[in-house]
Amino acid sequence: MLSASTDVLIVGAGPTGLTLAIALRQAGIGHLLVDRLPEGQNTSRAAVVHAHTLEALEPLGVADTLVARGLRLERFALRDRDRPLMQLRFDGLPSAHRYILMIPQDETERVLAARLAALGGTVHRGITAAAVEQEADGARVTLATPDGERTVRARYVVGGDGMKSLVREAAGIAFDGAAFEGAFVLADVRMDWPLGRSEVSLYFAPDGMLVVAPLPNGSFRIVAEVADAPAEPGLADVQALIDARGPATGAAQVQSVVWSSRFHLHHRIARSYRSGRLLLIGDAAHVHSPAGGQGMNTGIVDAVTLAGMLAEVVRGERPDAWLDGYGALRRPAAEQVIALSSRLTALATTRGPARQAMRNAFLSILGTLPLARRRIEMNLSGLARRDAARLAA
Ligand SMILES: Cc1cc2nc3c(=O)[nH]c(=O)nc-3n(C[C@H](O)[C@H](O)[C@H](O)COP(=O)(O)OP(=O)(O)OC[C@H]3O[C@@H](n4cnc5c(N)ncnc54)[C@H](O)[C@@H]3O)c2cc1C
Repeated sequence: MLSASTDVLIVGAGPTGLTLAIALRQAGIGHLLVDRLPEGQNTSRAAVVHAHTLEALEPLGVADTLVARGLRLERFALRDRDRPLMQLRFDGLPSAHRYILMIPQDETERVLAARLAALGGTVHRGITAAAVEQEADGARVTLATPDGERTVRARYVVGGDGMKSLVREAAGIAFDGAAFEGAFVLADVRMDWPLGRSEVSLYFAPDGMLVVAPLPNGSFRIVAEVADAPAEPGLADVQALIDARGPATGAAQVQSVVWSSRFHLHHRIARSYRSGRLLLIGDAAHVHSPAGGQGMNTGIVDAVTLAGMLAEVVRGERPDAWLDGYGALRRPAAEQVIALSSRLTALATTRGPARQAMRNAFLSILGTLPLARRRIEMNLSGLARRDAARLAA
């Protein structure tokens, strides 16, 4: 049963909406979490959880479960076919989580949903936010439910409703950026892989990058940027990508495709993370290339940061203007992530033998400089953005 009013209405129960709901529940803040889907999505999508995200999730009581279900990797290698260009290591990170955690997004969402349920929280499913109207001290949201239309008044509405966010649209917030040319192939495959199961490999190739990363269930995640691809890439498509961009020895043999998808991407960031009583988290606020596996991670940290600030404002410990600090903290983090994934994509897709040779030489030299390597490791793990997130705590 939906209440007619609440302190915080969260639209969207993806990883970011679930995270926000857990944190608000723990803080004792009244909220409603709605999602138009009748059940959680069961596709693996984002497959990496980074150290900073795990740190942010620790107080929510989910980090240990994620770590127990995931696969810990300590190495991330940049490669040009058989030539290693740079080896990054996470076992020296200044964190309790000195690794990249590989875990499919549907598993992450199951862990988050189970934690919310254990705290007595609920995801109201099959309920679509159809309209959002701002008022002086809150917002009125029209919900389409299986029992007809309902109106809920909320002091704050948070859009965790993904790239095509209704909340962002209702707030009149521009989503600056552009669509990516081309597409990405994503596939979870079973295969013989000559490099084993201990590193994430990012291959640079003239036609686009290729990422190969082991997953906890014995399969591998493949991500490749392509000009065009079928909607559900098959075994031959994935094998061709690995043959053209992966190890030149041809030792990689795909046995089967567990799940595959093709998706088109955008590089976009919301011009503001807040308009009055409407706030944005996750893909509603920023989207970018999956290079470096940052999308979901950045969104989860948005949610944890916003939860702390909202709790203080709803309890009356801080003025409403305190929430302006949320965008001030988190928007620069998304800008950094977009810059990082754009740089990786640009490096990966350098064309022409002369430019590729220059790139390879540059990366090989950079790879010998411990400080430069550490900077990249801190960026990828999200720990470089940790201090800003702490300011809000
Ligand atoms: C095919 C694919 C592959 C990806 N691969 C990667 C990857 O390799 N690495 C990576 O980091 N990221 C990847 N991503 C991105 C990652 O999945 C997102 O960053 C992450 O899901 C964002 O979480 P979110 O909670 O912000 O939004 P979402 O996961 O999009 O969740 C939004 C939720 O809001 C609900 N909703 C939307 N509108 C309404 C409404 N009006 N009313 C009610 N509910 C609504 C939706 O049903 C959905 O459940 C991928 C995404 C896709 C689609």
